[in-house]
Amino acid sequence: MALRSHASGWFMTERNKLRSAFGGSLREYEPLAKHTTSRIGGAAEFLVVADSAAVLAEQVRTARQLGLPFFILGAGANVLISDSGVRGLVIVNRARDVRIDEVGETPSVRVESGANLSLLARQCAARGLSGLEWAAGIPGTVGGAIYGNAGAHGSDIAASLQLAEILHDDGRVKRWDVSELSFGYRTSALKRARAAGQGGHVVLAAEFALVRRDPAECLERMDTWTAYRRRTQPPGASLGSMFKNPPGDYAGRLIEAAGLKGLKVGGAEISPVHANFFLNTGEARAADVFALIHQAHAAVKTQFDIDLALEVELVGEWGGQC
Ligand SMILES: Cc1cc2nc3c(=O)[nH]c(=O)nc-3n(C[C@H](O)[C@H](O)[C@H](O)COP(=O)(O)OP(=O)(O)OC[C@H]3O[C@@H](n4cnc5c(N)ncnc54)[C@H](O)[C@@H]3O)c2cc1C
Repeated sequence: MALRSHASGWFMTERNKLRSAFGGSLREYEPLAKHTTSRIGGAAEFLVVADSAAVLAEQVRTARQLGLPFFILGAGANVLISDSGVRGLVIVNRARDVRIDEVGETPSVRVESGANLSLLARQCAARGLSGLEWAAGIPGTVGGAIYGNAGAHGSDIAASLQLAEILHDDGRVKRWDVSELSFGYRTSALKRARAAGQGGHVVLAAEFALVRRDPAECLERMDTWTAYRRRTQPPGASLGSMFKNPPGDYAGRLIEAAGLKGLKVGGAEISPVHANFFLNTGEARAADVFALIHQAHAAVKTQFDIDLALEVELVGEWGGQC
């Protein structure tokens, strides 16, 4: 139990401060498998749930004041959390308020960052507010989608986001114009900054600029994308696309061409339907998926001299494995 032995290093006074700051809402050693779409992940040393953007901001400020590392978890649809779990505080974002203002010429949509992106897209489509239909069937929160610039069918979050309300490291909230987020293929200024160890800005809320169209057309478009997903992607517990597509090619095609469709390690499997989807067939551990990642990466590198980059983020303690 790596986490328990680490936790014993925590001075009791610090633990008590944490308990008194978060009260009864603080959970300890909460299994994160319950909070990810892959149903994989060790325990969070500490975990709280944020049910509004204001609470989310307060929890982050408290963690910072206590000097406690924190990690924001949306729907856990783009993270592989290690079997030994996450030290510090995991904040599960369920801030889901949605406000749609249709008065005036330009409809505005303000949404808290824990809202489910696909549900938001459907809600907007039903009112004839177009721009997010591509998100049909994508699991994940608005915050996670902004962090990683989620996208599909030739569009992405960057295309209709107007601004994001960001909690900065110094505790201030600022409104970032879409250009400041500096979006790229499955990346953003927020993601690049964290990768470079330069801060952990948090998305609290977002505003979208959508255009008016016929609601029936919007919903039909969403249904078409949903049907396409059902035809081409496997059902079951997964993390979505494991690797980013390299320029001019598809990670799934390359892994399939390397002969790895259906490869299993423990309870994890490279999907026989779509080779860029790695499935938890029941009792998979993060280490099983990690082994498949290595095999797929190595096979594609050896056979095609292409260095696939992970789309999924590795989170937690990996004991020098990565
Ligand atoms: C079946 C399936 C299909 C998928 N299809 C697609 C697809 O078509 N296109 C696509 O782009 N993705 C796809 N994904 C991946 C995933 O749905 C997206 O990446 C999604 O945007 C992740 O959101 P999340 O809330 O689950 O983020 P999480 O996985 O919870 O977190 C991902 C990262 O975002 C950070 N983060 C989350 N919220 C915030 C916040 N409020 N502020 C700051 N940082 C934050 C986290 O700390 C973490 O670093 C798919 C996944 C699955 C399981």
